[in-house]
Amino acid sequence: MKKGNLSINSENIFPVIKKWLYSDHDIFVRELISNGCDAVTKLKKLSLMGEFDEPDTPYRIDVITSSEDKTIQFIDNGIGMTADEVEKYINQIAFSGAEAFLEQYKDKATEEQIIGHFGLGFYSAFMVADKVTIETKSYKDDEDAVLWECEDGLEFSMKKSVKADRGTIITLYLNEDSYEFSNEYRVKEVIDKYCSFMPVEIYYTNADAPVEDPKEATVDVKASEDEKTEADDTEKNTPKPLNNTTPLWSKHPNDCTDEEYKEFYHKVFHDYKEPLFWIHLNMDYPFNLKGILYFPKINTQYDNLEGTIKLYNNQVFVADNIKEVIPEFLMLLKGTIDCPDLPLNVSRSALQNDGFVKKISDYISKKVADKLSGMYKVHREDYEKYWDDINPFIKFGCLKDEKFLDKMKDYCIYKNLEGKYLTLPEYLEAGKEKYENKVFYVTDELAQSQYINMFKEEGIDALMMTQTIDSPFITLLEQKNENVHFYRIDAELSDNFVNDSLSEETTKEYTDKLTEIFKKALDMENLTVKVEALKNEATSSMLTLSEESRRMQEMMKMYGMAGMGMDPSMFGGQGETLILNANNNLVKYVLDNPDKENTATICCQLYDLAVIANRPLSADAMTKFIARSNEILSILAK
Ligand code: ADP
Ligand code: MG
Repeated sequence: MKKGNLSINSENIFPVIKKWLYSDHDIFVRELISNGCDAVTKLKKLSLMGEFDEPDTPYRIDVITSSEDKTIQFIDNGIGMTADEVEKYINQIAFSGAEAFLEQYKDKATEEQIIGHFGLGFYSAFMVADKVTIETKSYKDDEDAVLWECEDGLEFSMKKSVKADRGTIITLYLNEDSYEFSNEYRVKEVIDKYCSFMPVEIYYTNADAPVEDPKEATVDVKASEDEKTEADDTEKNTPKPLNNTTPLWSKHPNDCTDEEYKEFYHKVFHDYKEPLFWIHLNMDYPFNLKGILYFPKINTQYDNLEGTIKLYNNQVFVADNIKEVIPEFLMLLKGTIDCPDLPLNVSRSALQNDGFVKKISDYISKKVADKLSGMYKVHREDYEKYWDDINPFIKFGCLKDEKFLDKMKDYCIYKNLEGKYLTLPEYLEAGKEKYENKVFYVTDELAQSQYINMFKEEGIDALMMTQTIDSPFITLLEQKNENVHFYRIDAELSDNFVNDSLSEETTKEYTDKLTEIFKKALDMENLTVKVEALKNEATSSMLTLSEESRRMQEMMKMYGMAGMGMDPSMFGGQGETLILNANNNLVKYVLDNPDKENTATICCQLYDLAVIANRPLSADAMTKFIARSNEILSILAK
């Protein structure tokens, strides 16, 4: 029998361990089960090297709980430990590790979130247990089994044990706050969270459950013997492991079927929708990385664009969405990434500055770009079909990652007014003569339908930019394509809509005259009027909204200037121009009859109609508009 004090520092360790993982106490399950997996893996390696004969019984890990005894046990039939090894790996190493850990985190243990808790894993048991025992027997036949006991993590005792078979049993006597971990459902839930894909089969047993009476069982079988097939029988009697030891990502892509990819997706991400497509990452050199990234089908109107990337280390779940490893824009996807080489026992901020982590992140982003550009080149039809779903992701990627932008910029496509998809160069080429280096775009098909119709009539194309991300994306495109400028479809009237029936002098004369009449009628001192001879005579009035000042206003809205005491309406009307069509009869009437009885009414109505085709009327303006419309109708009825 051997006794000892665990370490000079041990009194400091347990409060830290407890605090350090306060929010996820359940992580001890992961640590102890992954230790069991490690123990099995070590033994497998030895047998590969011919130093150990492959056993007849399969490798497995058992988790047994008893809520009566308030215990949880972890049993493996892996490599086991000799007394010397317990001394070395449990009594000494873990504590030297703990010292280093304490040193590193002594000031930050509370706020700094630590990604992996590997290295101190075993001692996480003391987060939930007052007393822990290890009973272990090494695979080396001539070594005695050992029983190690430790209460409160302060003092340990070691003695010989009677354990006859190879492997390790860890027993946790749960503390008062942690009785939940002796509950079957709670434990299964935690195993599901962290251990779904661990490489050794995990079985659960509830020690409190009544053992089935063998006699009754026989009667049962007899009663329904006729209907039962042999397969039923084996299925019922053979317990199933809780985990899948060969997750799809660990297989070679050539060995996976579409069905398997989809099934895996539904299961892991609880998404009943089909994924659009996926990328299977499989890399051995210069680092080890496997994973599957899915492009989810999203409904941009209802779903928020938030994916989940689950990070694993040798099939052990680490965490979701670790932004230090996964490029931010990839977080919109759903996927699993297993990277055994990641240094996980460091803090997040250390990961962020890790060159290796940067390489991983670059690799993933490159793979995604390759897949997308490959699809564009070979299956453009598919690519177009997916575009509406994937474009926010791609645009976000371009905005966030210069390299991704370089790879993807030629493969960004835009829907035009006919619903066809064009690249930016394709659009510019088609409009070379009519709108050199100008890109007209639509942000709201319904609200801008008047303008769209006008553009269509004139055979001028525009691109759909209807998503939130399009606004910053347009700015990016302008930065990257120096001569190209974007104009919302209502931003200006291109010369294409105008015939040249008006001389410069006449235009000026009309403009001055109409400006005065409209200002007076509308009582709007800062109204800007412009007279154009539009080809379409039926169009009387329209509004244009200068691209520059509109963008400015949008930006201010975005940064919440209004909330800062600046009134956005201060800028309202700025950049807005009332276009009046000199070819239209109503406009001509106003020009010729500035002082007639109904002229002011016509002016107001023309202005409101122009506004309505551009944006909703204010409540006040709407009331007036309705009253005025009725007035006009009653004139008709006279
Ligand atoms: P790590 O797993 O990162 O080495 P742990 O604190 O989890 O750190 O475990 C410390 C050491 O204790 C392990 O490296 C291993 O040598 C030994 N050990 C822990 N659990 C087992 C087990 N179930 N079977 C065999 N050895 C174990
Ligand atoms: Mg461990």
